[in-house]
Amino acid sequence: MYPSRFKYESPKTIVEAIKLLDAGKGDAKVLAGGQSLVPMLKLRFAFPDQIVDINNIPGLDYIRFDADGSLHIGALVRHEHLEKSVEISMRQPTIAAAAPLVADPIVRARGTFVGSVCHADPQGDWAATMIALHGSIVVQGPKGKRTIAMKDFVLGPYANSLNYNEIAIEAVIPAPKGVARGGYLKLERRVGDFATASVAVALDMSGDTVLNAGFALAGVGGKTIDANEAASALIGQKLTEATIAKAAQLVAALAEPRTDHRGSAEYKRHIVETFVKRILVANSAQKVA
Ligand SMILES: Cc1cc2nc3c(=O)[nH]c(=O)nc-3n(C[C@H](O)[C@H](O)[C@H](O)COP(=O)(O)OP(=O)(O)OC[C@H]3O[C@@H](n4cnc5c(N)ncnc54)[C@H](O)[C@@H]3O)c2cc1C
Repeated sequence: MYPSRFKYESPKTIVEAIKLLDAGKGDAKVLAGGQSLVPMLKLRFAFPDQIVDINNIPGLDYIRFDADGSLHIGALVRHEHLEKSVEISMRQPTIAAAAPLVADPIVRARGTFVGSVCHADPQGDWAATMIALHGSIVVQGPKGKRTIAMKDFVLGPYANSLNYNEIAIEAVIPAPKGVARGGYLKLERRVGDFATASVAVALDMSGDTVLNAGFALAGVGGKTIDANEAASALIGQKLTEATIAKAAQLVAALAEPRTDHRGSAEYKRHIVETFVKRILVANSAQKVA
C-alpha cells in the first residue's frame, strides 16, 4: 500500500523543526531512522499531513560519557553506532548486550536509539534497557527543554508522553555510583525478529555488593514492563543463589505474558525468570547457571 499524501520538510535546526511540529498542531510527525514510521505510513497506521525529517540537523549523533560518568545518546545515534562503540562495550554492558540483538544489520544501520524509545513498541529492545538503567529523555519544545524520567515516558503501546510540538533530543543514563554491570537477553523466533520475551538487567556494583539494580521486560506485556521494584531483593546484598532466585521470581511475577503463536504465557514467564537468573549469575562471582 502507498502512504497517504504528506508534505515533507527537512529542517536544519531543532528550533526550525519544532516550529514545523507546532504549526502542524498534532498532524506532523518526526522522521528519524524511518524503520518504524515508514512501515506505519505504508500500512496507513499513521497518516500525518507533514513529515519533519530531522536527519539534516547537525550535532545529534553523539555518544558521550560526561565527566560525572553519565551517558548521553543523541537523537540521531543509530543502533549500529552503539553496537560498534568501544566505549559502550567497555562502560555500559546492558546497552552493549542489547545492541546486536535489535532487528537486523540493515535496520540497525538506519534506526535510532531515541526513535525506538519514542516509538514505545511493547516488543522494542531500547525502551526496556532505558527503564532498567533508570534513564531519562531530554525533550525540546517551543518553551525550551524538559527532562522526562523513562518510567513516565512510555505511557502504553506506541504511546509516549511527548507533546505534539516536542522533539526528543537525547537519552541520558545516570552514572553508576560503583561499576556498571548487567546484560540483556532476548528470545526471538529467528535472528532479526522482535522479542518473544526479553530481559534487561542493570547493576551498579561495589565489589560484589549490589548498590542499585534495574529490570525491565519487552514482549511480555501490553507495554514495556517496568520491573524495577524487584531491585529490592538485591540492593545492599551480594549476588548469591538465594538473592538471584528471589530477584528472578519477583521479575517474572511482574511479566504480563499472553499465550500466542510464539508460546504459552507460562513458557514466556519461565523464560523471563531463567534470563534474569542467567544475567545475574554471569555477573556474580559464582559462574554456574
Ligand atoms: C524488519 C524490522 C525489524 C525490527 N526489529 C526490531 C527489533 O528486533 N527490536 C526493536 O527494538 N526494534 C525493531 N525494529 C524497529 C527499529 O528498531 C526502529 O528503528 C525503531 O523502532 C525506531 O527508530 P527510528 O529511528 O527508525 O524511528 P522512526 O521510524 O523514524 O520513528 C518512529 C516513531 O518515533 C517518532 N520519533 C522518532 N524520533 C523521534 C524524536 N527524536 N523525537 C520525537 N519523536 C521521534 C516518530 O515520529 C515515529 O512516531 C525493527 C524494524 C524493522 C523494519
